[in-house]
Amino acid sequence: MLHETRDLIQEARRQVEICNACRYCEGFCSVFPAMTREHAFADGDITHLANLCHNCRGCYYSCQYTEPHEFALNLPAALAEVRQDSWERLVWPQPLARSFHDSGVKIAVMLVLGFAVLFWALAAFKPDAGDGFYAHLAHNAMVAIFTPAFILPLLAVAIGIRRYWREVEARPFRLEHLFGAIRQVATLRNLDGGQGQGCNFEKEDRYSNARRHCHQAVLYGFLLCFAATASGTIMHYVFNMPAPYPLFSLPKLLGVPGGILLTIGTIGLAYLKTKADPALGAARVWGGEMAFIGLLGFVAVSGLVLYAMTGTAAVPGLLALHLGSVLTLFLLLPFTKMVHGFFRMTALVAEEGLKKG
Ligand code: SF4
Ligand code: SF4
Repeated sequence: MLHETRDLIQEARRQVEICNACRYCEGFCSVFPAMTREHAFADGDITHLANLCHNCRGCYYSCQYTEPHEFALNLPAALAEVRQDSWERLVWPQPLARSFHDSGVKIAVMLVLGFAVLFWALAAFKPDAGDGFYAHLAHNAMVAIFTPAFILPLLAVAIGIRRYWREVEARPFRLEHLFGAIRQVATLRNLDGGQGQGCNFEKEDRYSNARRHCHQAVLYGFLLCFAATASGTIMHYVFNMPAPYPLFSLPKLLGVPGGILLTIGTIGLAYLKTKADPALGAARVWGGEMAFIGLLGFVAVSGLVLYAMTGTAAVPGLLALHLGSVLTLFLLLPFTKMVHGFFRMTALVAEEGLKKG
C-alpha cells in the first residue's frame, strides 16, 4: 500500500472514529449505519465506508466539529479522497487508472485519438455496398473495433471489483443482496438526505434534489442508450434485421429518449459541479471529472445529431465523431469517473450482506 494511501485512510479513520462517537448524522445515508457496526476500523472498513458515501455533503453542513473547531471534520472530503484512491489503486492496470482520473487534458487527447481511429477506419474499411451507417463503415470492421474496446475495459473493472470485495472482506455474494442494492440505485436513495429533502451538494446548508434528478437522468439515459444498442444487436444477429432502423423500432424508441435524458443530465451535473465547493470533495480530480461529464455529454449529443442528419452528406464526419467518442468512453471506462458506478453498486451489494451479518 502506498504511503499516500495510508495517510488518506488514516485521516478518514480519525474522522470516522469521531463520527462514530457522535452519531448525529445517523439517518443521512448508508455510511453512518454501516459505521455503527464497528468499534475499530480496519483499512478495508474505511475503503468500504468511502465507497458507500455519495458526497451529498449533508454531514458536513450539519457538523459542529468542522473548522475552526480543533477536530477539523470534513468527512465528505476525507471519504472522497479514500474512495478516489481506491478506484485508482484497485482497478487494473493501476498506472493507467492513476493517470487519467485527474487529467482532463489526457481525456481530451484520448478523445482526439478516438476520432482519429474512427476517421481512419471509415477510410480504410469503406464497404462497396450497405445501408445506413454500414454504407460508410463495414459491419465487421465496427465489430472488430468495438468488441475488444468493450470487453477489455470490463475485464479491468472486474479485477478491481474482485480486489475490492477481498479488501472489505465482504460476505459471499447472494442474489437478494444484489436486488437490495438495485433498489437503492434505482431511486438513488442515498442522495435524498434521509427524508427526501435532497442533498447539500451545490446549495451548501440548503437542500436540493437537483443532483439526484440530474444523476437519475444520466443513469436512465445511459441505460436506455445501452438497451438501444443491445436491442439493435439482437435484431441484427437473432432476427436478421440489420440497421438502419425506423423511428418506430426498439433501438430508436429506446435510444432517442436515452440520448435526450443523457444530454440533459450531463449539462445539469456539469452546472452543479461549478456551483459546489471543491474543498468538500477530491479536489485534485475536479478537471478529470468535468472532462468525463463532457465526454459523456458529447456521446449523447453527437448520437442525436447523427440521427437527425441521417441521409445527408454530413453522416460520415458525424459518424466518426460519434463513434470516436463512444470508443473513447469505452476505453476509459475503468480509468474515469465512469468506474464509480461499478464500485458504488458493489459497495451497496457488499453492505447488504454485511448488515445482515
Ligand atoms: S459529521 Fe459531525 S455531526 Fe455528523 S456524525 Fe460526524 S461528528 Fe457528528
Ligand atoms: S457526504 Fe453524504 S453520503 Fe457522504 S457520509 Fe456525509 S451524509 Fe453520508
